Amino acid sequence: MQRDCYRIVDRSWPDKITAVITRLSQLFCRTLREDPADAEVASHRWLVRAGYIRRAAPGIYSWLPLGLRVLANVERIVREEMDAIGAQEVRFPALLPREPYEDTNRWTEYGPNLFRLQDRKGADYLLGPTHEEMFTLLVKDLYSSYKDLPLSLYQIQTKYRDEARPRAGLLRGREFVMKDSYSFDIDDAGLDASYAAHRAAYIRIFDRLGLEYVIVKATSGAMGGSASEEFLAVSPSGEDTFVRSPGGYAANVEAVRIPVPTAVDASAIGAARPVITPEAGTINALVTLANSDFPRPDREWTAADTLKNVVFKLALPDGTSDLLMIGLPGDRDIDPKRLEAALEPAEVTALAEEDFAANPGLVKGFIGPVTLTDGVVAQHLGAEGPLKLRYLLDPRVVPGTAWITGANVSDTHLIDVVAGRDFTADGVLDVAEVRAGDPAPDGSGPLSLARGIEMGHIFQLGRKYAEALGLKVLDSNGKLVTVTMGSYGVGVSRAVAAVAEATCDDHGLSWPPALAPFDVQILATGKGEEIAGAAERLAEDLDAAGLRVLLDDRKASPGVKFTDAEVMGMPLAVVVGRGLADGVVEIRQRASGERSEVAVGQAVAQVLELVNR
Ligand code: ATP
Ligand code: MG
Repeated sequence: MQRDCYRIVDRSWPDKITAVITRLSQLFCRTLREDPADAEVASHRWLVRAGYIRRAAPGIYSWLPLGLRVLANVERIVREEMDAIGAQEVRFPALLPREPYEDTNRWTEYGPNLFRLQDRKGADYLLGPTHEEMFTLLVKDLYSSYKDLPLSLYQIQTKYRDEARPRAGLLRGREFVMKDSYSFDIDDAGLDASYAAHRAAYIRIFDRLGLEYVIVKATSGAMGGSASEEFLAVSPSGEDTFVRSPGGYAANVEAVRIPVPTAVDASAIGAARPVITPEAGTINALVTLANSDFPRPDREWTAADTLKNVVFKLALPDGTSDLLMIGLPGDRDIDPKRLEAALEPAEVTALAEEDFAANPGLVKGFIGPVTLTDGVVAQHLGAEGPLKLRYLLDPRVVPGTAWITGANVSDTHLIDVVAGRDFTADGVLDVAEVRAGDPAPDGSGPLSLARGIEMGHIFQLGRKYAEALGLKVLDSNGKLVTVTMGSYGVGVSRAVAAVAEATCDDHGLSWPPALAPFDVQILATGKGEEIAGAAERLAEDLDAAGLRVLLDDRKASPGVKFTDAEVMGMPLAVVVGRGLADGVVEIRQRASGERSEVAVGQAVAQVLELVNR
């Protein structure tokens, strides 16, 4: 993994112009000894305790001087790499009118995630969650010919989403900083090239951030569109789960589409028959009972022989709601994140007792796709059945497979209910949990699972937004054609937390040089003019050598200074203290914990060498 080397020639901190050394005695920063009560993850804990950020409201944070410097470093890296692929920086307002979002239906589709407000005249506004509409309209405003394309524009800007579960400090905020870019091309080949350029830029960005990351296939969510990949920082604190195979398949679990088994021959399977199954309202109870009361001749019944039917309530963005039934093999659970992603923008909740009461056709614990009356099998669910519930099936439930499933009568199940023969569904829904060891969809071996933090997302939007908003240009034949677009995001504020999460330890933050607010922290430990004077001179010399220096000149004990230096996490610390009497200072490397004594006269050279290493 490539790390961003510190490049002295590139330095552009405004404070360098006046060469003022930052003193901890003056810095607007208080380190805290206690963890914030709401901190679930280490990065959140340390960013607050080290005085980088402060909570203003749930999921909304203020940036203090140290934090703002890290944020600026991330922004600089992102900017450099976006500029390098020829993208041009612009900046849109965060406060946006409703109409364009109405035209693309996202005013409705975003549902409760959108911060909405009205002006004094009662006109509707929103705080931008992402800016596809605005970029599309701007390009439409100014460009009209294929000669103007390709074009890539980007901004680094504050976004607003009223997240259902803001958590982990900057990792999932309701206000956050995103780099979003948009590409505009005349044809599919152009879009492919723009997508590839962004992908390459993202690889350089995340390499420079020093993150361990994976690029995975993704779903495109509320954005619409086709080709889509995510950059996930590998981290147990991540909210995303992804799968990998030895042969190189990698996908967010939300995007995994399982290999669909081929249909099986069911001609030898007898007619469906009812069995009395008292108290067998759970899969385990059912399997145990089946093995004791209706043993199979060939082998034991297992949970995989049962067809489990689960009903959910869908709240649609337009305020209406609907019920949905999903049938899947009983040895698998539904993965809530896969379910949510598949049904977006609808919000999904499990059925409550009162919903069962309101739908007497649903016999809890005994729900199934068919009923059997006088030996006649009849479809119960879906468009065909009397219970007009939308019924979707796991792809494993292929035609010809036989199941034990609920009979829609209390304490009764049916054996040998055959998919395709006895029942059909309204469609397929691939939302069962993906397990370690499951085969990769492309045949590249068994899957393993891990967690990650979504750092970036690139996708080919295609013509959806351009069509909705009428972005057309004249092609080389003078014909009007719809522009094709890509949309590309980086979580800039999230990156601050993700890097902190990856690098912190039990003592505090530990920044990679590319992101650190300062290159070196100088600790004057011990009383006396001499120590203070030597620390001051060293700070000036390092500053003159082009480094960003933080001088701990506080009237505090050495213990406090050591502890704070570890909490605050600069890559290097120089301790000017007792050793000075013997002409030495101590250099401490935060990440490795290495310490070495050097002669005072060698300190600048030694620090520079470590910084440039
Ligand atoms: P998530 O799945 O984490 O909610 P998303 O897929 O909704 O994210 P995108 O719309 O793809 O996010 O936004 C682009 C990038 O912005 C994401 O890859 C992520 O890094 C960042 N991001 C999205 N939501 C948040 C948030 N609530 N807080 C901080 N960063 C965010
Ligand atoms: Mg995303």
